[in-house]
Amino acid sequence: MADVLTAASGQLAAALGLEKREARLEARVLAAFAWDVRPAWLIAHDTDPLSNTHAAAFESLLTRRLEGVPIAYLVGMREFYGRPFQVSPDILIPRPDTELLVELALARMPPDRAMDVLDLGTGSGCIAITLALERPLARVTAVDRSAAALVIAERNADILDAHVEFLTSDWFAAFMPTRVLAGRRFDLIVGNPPYIAATDPHLTRGDVRFEPLTALAAGRDGLADLRQLTAAARNHLSPGGVLLLEHGYDQADAVRALLRESGILRPQSWPDLAGIPRVSGGELSE
Ligand code: GLN
Repeated sequence: MADVLTAASGQLAAALGLEKREARLEARVLAAFAWDVRPAWLIAHDTDPLSNTHAAAFESLLTRRLEGVPIAYLVGMREFYGRPFQVSPDILIPRPDTELLVELALARMPPDRAMDVLDLGTGSGCIAITLALERPLARVTAVDRSAAALVIAERNADILDAHVEFLTSDWFAAFMPTRVLAGRRFDLIVGNPPYIAATDPHLTRGDVRFEPLTALAAGRDGLADLRQLTAAARNHLSPGGVLLLEHGYDQADAVRALLRESGILRPQSWPDLAGIPRVSGGELSE
């Protein structure tokens, strides 16, 4: 079995340009999934012979990974904030960067306050569900315009036993004047909208090629959705309400300017673990 994993690591490193350590880890994750065992089991059994069925199951997963399909889609799962989330090609794979947005939101959600929270473009539901689980008193609403994404998000909420209200809505559309939920306001609005420029070569490389483009690309400068959300947010925030938005590595200045233009007070940006300003936000006057 060890030789199969070693050969696979070599192929993964070569085909995807992964570092050796990363390639070995991916080979083990795929094998553990293909054989329905824990990764630790592989280490204890590395001299075991491999049955033909097991070899074939591993081979078919490996082939798809070598074609570039993200590992999270192959195993159908990605961890976020310490919890497992189901994923499918209908949704953006949760990223560690987004845990910053969650931390900043939680810091503004006192555990003893029943706040109304909105997550825009929820995708897998990872942000909304994490906030709901970390702050059981919060009333969390999550919207996405993709019905397929909401199926996954609702399933994740079920599995993790989180209470989140999911709505089909293109950003704030569900809360516009003529709609049933017109006039609803939130104490905290968070979102990880698409923010990559449509022409950015990043979109044609690596794992992102397999993710929904609608969750990634946002017009010529990558700011199309951020512009729309910052402009509309004040109509949906309660007095003193807070808006927090994730954005690209070089968009902090632009997003703070958009917040200022929209009348959001105290625009501020916060760095992720790599020191890159990754989330910006501010608040509505009392
Ligand atoms: N951070 C993601 C990436 O660079 C993009 C996520 C998004 O557009 N919201 O792949």
